[in-house]
Amino acid sequence: MVDNYKSINASRQMLEALEEQNSILFDYMYSNNLPSAEAFNKKTSLFYKWFNIEENNITEKGEQQYVALIKYNYVKYQTSLPIIQKIRDTSGIPSSIRYYNQNYNNYYISIRSYLKNISTINETAMFKNKSNVTNSATNSMYVLILLSVIAIFSGFIIASFFTDKFLRPLYTLKNNMMAVKEGYMHQEVSINSSDEIGALSIEFNQMISRLDLFEKSTKGKLLQEKNKSLAIVKSISDPIIVLDTNFKVVLLNSACEYFFNIKEIDALNKHFLEIIRIGDIFDHIVSAYNSSADKYMTKIISLTVDGKDFYFDTIVTKVRDEVMNITGMIILFQNITKLKKLEKVKTEFVYMISHEFKTPLTSIMMGTSLIKNKSLGELNEKQLELVDTIEDDTERLSALVTDIIQLSKAESENDMFYFEKVSIYSIIEACVRTFYEQALSKDINILVTLDDNLPLVLVDTEKLSWVINNLISNSLKYTKPGGCITIIGNVMQNNLRIAVKDDGIGIPKEFIDKVFDKFVRLDNDIYDATGSGLGLSIAREIVETHRGKIWCESTEGNGSCFIFTLPIQD
Ligand code: ADP
Repeated sequence: MVDNYKSINASRQMLEALEEQNSILFDYMYSNNLPSAEAFNKKTSLFYKWFNIEENNITEKGEQQYVALIKYNYVKYQTSLPIIQKIRDTSGIPSSIRYYNQNYNNYYISIRSYLKNISTINETAMFKNKSNVTNSATNSMYVLILLSVIAIFSGFIIASFFTDKFLRPLYTLKNNMMAVKEGYMHQEVSINSSDEIGALSIEFNQMISRLDLFEKSTKGKLLQEKNKSLAIVKSISDPIIVLDTNFKVVLLNSACEYFFNIKEIDALNKHFLEIIRIGDIFDHIVSAYNSSADKYMTKIISLTVDGKDFYFDTIVTKVRDEVMNITGMIILFQNITKLKKLEKVKTEFVYMISHEFKTPLTSIMMGTSLIKNKSLGELNEKQLELVDTIEDDTERLSALVTDIIQLSKAESENDMFYFEKVSIYSIIEACVRTFYEQALSKDINILVTLDDNLPLVLVDTEKLSWVINNLISNSLKYTKPGGCITIIGNVMQNNLRIAVKDDGIGIPKEFIDKVFDKFVRLDNDIYDATGSGLGLSIAREIVETHRGKIWCESTEGNGSCFIFTLPIQD
């Protein structure tokens, strides 16, 4: 196509040179312009220049022949200018025109027609080539698409093959690692390649064999430790039960088997209540489990085994894992039978001694009263003062003895309690009535707000009255004139709840729990409040014997509230 274009261009250039030469001739023949031989010859050179290009660029059939004819005709034509000049100069313009028409016009027309033929031949060839090129380009495109599709498919197949070849060992390695993570230690990898993956497999195998060794030795140690702990637990003479978080038995020791008459083998994985049907203990365990404290103490239970009475302090300890989640509980039944027996002896002894004190104290009090009312004669001032002091001290001692007797009674066996179903309204009313005069004289109001329809409760009326009396008496002691005492009664969570609230001096935070201990009295110098420090501990004993709870809520300077509960029976 490039050669064709070259020939077309050469023909065009030759035609332009020829036409310009012919114009020079015509100018000369028809006008009087003098011919420029130089311009004519320049065009001749130009013509030959393009002729040579064409002569060396023959590509099409017949082109050679036209080139030869052009050469022949142009050789003739190029001689025209001097001859026409001569005829014009000698014979005039018409002769020169005639001579031109007869001799040169034919050459001119022929050359033009041959040049056009060359152009046509090359143009035809060029268009033909163009469509050939287009066709072969289209074909090439199809071939290329086909090759691309084949290349993509084969590339995909080859890539899958190699990916699989290279990744399979990695997958094997990954699966083995996951198995090791799950705890299967014998997952050696059998990759024998000598590349990096092979080296990695060797390292991996070495690592798991070391891990295996480590696990065996750790397991061994753990087993040893476990057996040791187990032996300790088993050999403890106090009953121990280990529960999981669903209260199912994980472990119990021989003492537990003996005291609760169960076999470990039958008890394992069973719910606590299935093997020990004592609701009180279970309630205590549940409260311990739900409480925030890790050690939850003091629930004294009694058991009769082989005709003997035993006392246990139930201590619940929560077991936690490394992230502090509760994983179970250890329940230790600390055998306090000996202590209880000692306590009983002590209580009975104190009770007996106190009783022994009662009679002489009564006669001292009678004696002082006789001396004071002058039935035995007049006393001077000093003697009267002395008798007053003896009377005061004897009264205090008598109150203390009364309290000690009361405490001994409360601490001794339950059979000293006489339970009956009574209405709390009547008990409270009677108690309040007792303090009516005292409250009036101290200018203290006593308000009673009891909910309607409070249920009957199973209580020892005398003992419960003692508790309420003691709480009201304390409130009166520790409340300033003009103050107020409120007694509130309502039902809360299957318990009857009685609160004795005052707006007195209150109790410092650090003593709130301590006031229930024996002989604890706070330094209340500003008030003339006498007492033994036994009242609240007696009250606690009595309330607990009723299976209730007693506690205090107080803010120093803002009054105190003593609350106790009694379970409501069906
Ligand atoms: P006491 O015979 O001394 O009253 P209690 O055991 O009844 O013995 O009380 C112990 C101590 O608790 C009292 O000495 C007193 O300091 C304190 N206490 C008891 N009740 C109240 C109260 N309502 N207000 C302030 N303090 C009280």
